Formats: sequence, structure tokens, C-alpha cells
Amino acid sequence: YYEQIKQAERLKTAGQLAAAVAHEIRNPVTVVKGFLQFFEQDPQFNDDVKSKFSLMIDELNTAESVVSQFLSIAKPDKKQDIESVNLKVVLQSVTDLLNSYGLLNNNNIELEVKEDCYIAANKIELKQLLINIIKNAIEASEIGESVIVTGGMKQDFVEIQVIDHGHGMSETEIECLGTPFYSLKSKGTGLGMMICYNIAAKYNGTIEFQSSINEGTTVTIRFPSKN
Ligand code: ADP
Ligand code: MG
Repeated sequence: YYEQIKQAERLKTAGQLAAAVAHEIRNPVTVVKGFLQFFEQDPQFNDDVKSKFSLMIDELNTAESVVSQFLSIAKPDKKQDIESVNLKVVLQSVTDLLNSYGLLNNNNIELEVKEDCYIAANKIELKQLLINIIKNAIEASEIGESVIVTGGMKQDFVEIQVIDHGHGMSETEIECLGTPFYSLKSKGTGLGMMICYNIAAKYNGTIEFQSSINEGTTVTIRFPSKN
């Protein structure tokens, strides 16, 4: 329970920061990136210089994704439309999206949804949560490894599991999940899980991690079922 309070405080602080800072950063980043993209095409610069421009653009892209993830944290106070979301439909569309992005080094997502089940939530936020968690599973996996996503009723709850056979996490790493900017990836933002916990809490859901190093991770997400 104490962990939950700590989590809520972290989210609140991060949300306030977000609102204040995100807009101020986004505009200058966009302007500078625009110039760099222009210089990148300019024949007066040699290839060596151009490759540095390209690096700078990459870095700015990372900054932009941090900012846009931050903006999505700043918004949750705004009233969102809550509807009865069909989990089967949402999981199918998230899977299609991730598969077609090919983001994903041939990591096939195997979807198993046993029955129709419904969650009272905002559909966009629910998708955002699932995309973040499935993307993490794929990013933890080796090339060509599958990620299994299941959905169905478990007693009174709607339960979703995302199972990967990737590099896994230690207990300490699991405890750090949701801390702003906690990331072990070279291009990570470390905001994904914070957003996920935030969205889950909003709809009385829970997210649990079971993981062993080098064996993989199972994420269990539960929401109250909406009849
Ligand atoms: P990001 O993906 O930008 O790094 P996240 O908040 O989504 O940020 O995840 C934080 C960290 O948690 C990741 O950098 C990774 O180390 C770890 N992580 C999350 N999901 C998994 C997973 N399925 N398997 C192994 N590690 C994971
Ligand atoms: Mg992530």
C-alpha cells in the first residue's frame, strides 16, 4: 500500500512538471530540427558534417518523444470519454498496429483472446497502455522471438497477459518500473511504464510483473469487468 502512495506521488509530481515544461521545449526543438534537416540537404556541407547533422536530428527526435510522452501524462486530469471497450477489438488493433510497424525485428505477436470481454475505460488510453507494455516485451526479446498476448475473464476481472521470453528483469529492476526516466535502453524515454501505471490506476486496474533474468517476463494486467 505504501508503494502505491509513493507511486501516486511520483505521478503527480511528474504530471505537474510535464504541463509546465513540455510546451516550452517542443517548439524550439521543432525549429532547430527543421534547420538541421535543411542543412542535411545543403551541398555546401561535406558528408562528414552531414553525418553530424543526422546525429543531432536523432537526438532531437529522442527529445521530442520524451516531450510527447510527457504531454500525455499532463492530460489525464482532463475528462476523457469512458466507454465500454471490447478488449478483443482493442487487442486486435494494437497487435495489427505493432505488427505492421515492423518496428519489431520479426517479432510476431501471437494473440489469444478466448471470449468477448468489456472494460470501462477510455479506448485511446487503454490502447496506449497496451502498446507500451507490448512494445517493451518486444524490445526485450531477441530477433524473431514471439510475444504472446492473451485476454479473457479471470473470475470477476478482465485479465490480459503479455508474455515474452526476453532478457527479463531482476527484483530491483521491477521495483524501479514507473519511476520517471528509469530506462535501461539507449534510446528509451523511461516514461512508458509511468504512463501505464497512471492509466491503469485511473480505471481501477492493476499491473503485475513476474520475471526471471534470461528467461523472460509475464505482465499481468487486470481491470474490473464491465458487463
Ligand atoms: P523505456 O521503454 O523507454 O525504457 P519503460 O518505462 O517502458 O521505458 O520501461 C522501463 C524499463 O523497464 C526498460 O528500459 C526495461 O529495462 C524494463 N522493462 C520493461 N518491460 C520489460 C520487459 N518486458 N522485459 C525486460 N525489461 C523490461
Ligand atoms: Mg517502453
